Amino acid sequence: MVRIGRRALTLGLGTMGLSSFLSQGCAAASTASRPPPSGPLPSGRDFLLKNAYLLTMDPVLGDIPGGSVLVRQGQILAVGRDLAAPDVSVIDAQGMIGLPGLVDTHWHMWNTLLRSFAGARKAEGYFPTVAAFGKNMVPSDLYQGTRLAAAEALACGITTVHDYCHNVRGLEHATADLQALREAGLRARWSFGWPQGLATDQGLDLESLGRLHADWASHSNGGLLSLGMAWPGIQRMGGRTPEHIYKEELRFARERKLPISVHASSQRGATGQIGEFAQEGLLGPDMQVIHALFATEEEIQTMASAGTAVSVSPRSEMRIGFGFPKFLPFLRQGVKLGLSIDTTVLTGNANLFDVMKTARDIEHARAENEFEWTGRQLLELGTLGGARSLGLDGWIGSLTPGKRADLILINPGRVNMGVAPDPVNLVLEATEPSNVDTVIVEGRILKRGGALTALAPEQIITEASAALDQLRARTQLR
Ligand SMILES: [Zn+2]
Repeated sequence: MVRIGRRALTLGLGTMGLSSFLSQGCAAASTASRPPPSGPLPSGRDFLLKNAYLLTMDPVLGDIPGGSVLVRQGQILAVGRDLAAPDVSVIDAQGMIGLPGLVDTHWHMWNTLLRSFAGARKAEGYFPTVAAFGKNMVPSDLYQGTRLAAAEALACGITTVHDYCHNVRGLEHATADLQALREAGLRARWSFGWPQGLATDQGLDLESLGRLHADWASHSNGGLLSLGMAWPGIQRMGGRTPEHIYKEELRFARERKLPISVHASSQRGATGQIGEFAQEGLLGPDMQVIHALFATEEEIQTMASAGTAVSVSPRSEMRIGFGFPKFLPFLRQGVKLGLSIDTTVLTGNANLFDVMKTARDIEHARAENEFEWTGRQLLELGTLGGARSLGLDGWIGSLTPGKRADLILINPGRVNMGVAPDPVNLVLEATEPSNVDTVIVEGRILKRGGALTALAPEQIITEASAALDQLRARTQLR
């Protein structure tokens, strides 16, 4: 296969940048001169969903053919068959498969503006690319990147994300990123991180984080968004962070009960990082360790005892050459495991169904066993498991009366899903974003009949492309 480099593409297009080319393609495909703008979130949050094949992921309720879900004020009131509620609108889900919304547990949504930008040479790799462009990003660039990612999340059936924002260059960058999540209506943990390019002897901007925390009610979208800390850790690119910095960061988070997330033991050269955390007494139930490809069996046991969660993102970890991710060793020790997108700079897209299937296939290949992990266990990991790892399983992750109404409908009536007798394996193995018919978060219908209801994709792509053109002009790398 011939690989066409970005430089060749750009040269071939003359002075027109790649993003201009893409946005012009979108405009040409559209009959309207200006795409319709995004609108407010739907207000109605009461409905009766009927006639779905429900995969509730609730251990008691199980699967319910011809199932109904009654939702009022964004809460699931009842799940069963033949429910009636004459005073609310009906969603007829005949022929559809219903399940809880998917839960992503770690995603740098801001850098979706740099989708598929990691190049083929060392200088164009993921880390230098993200750092170079990230340093030049203004607040509206974070807004554009995260809004594009949020639209993609909803299109793909993801209802909860952990937006690990590691390019907070000031309070305005943070609030712009949060605005994109609010407009999308997603449920999210939003973790406050460092600006790209932060030196080892500098810490997080705790003053801005403190201000956000003090005023969180004005950012939280009625409780849909929660605040966390994207902790840089004790080793960064090119050295070790002084103890007084990283200990102060953790003290700050823990005083405010902010959950802490950190990348660790990602590559072979980073083996032992989790053990260092343990030795210093830094692990805890409020911490999430990301990647952990090279966690030893002893470190896994230590994380399980500490109640520390783990997030694994197999598509990006393999794409960047970290190695082969692992999953079952965490689950077998009782670690709260979640799956994640990480970054579309590396993965291209945010199809969490594909991430679940990939996780299964990696473990099957390693075990040389077709029956190591069931399709149902994978769907549970992508929903209830993800919720558990974010501490949200009391609220979401299954279609259970009392939980919030985050659910999706899959339409299998397309050539890529017809025909199959087993809805569980079918959903896991065959679902594409185009099969995601309906997406509901907190009872709000954010995708219906295959189309987003509040966000306007053409507008979002056009505006993101324009922002990227300007960013590329400012960055002058390639
Ligand atoms: Zn990451």
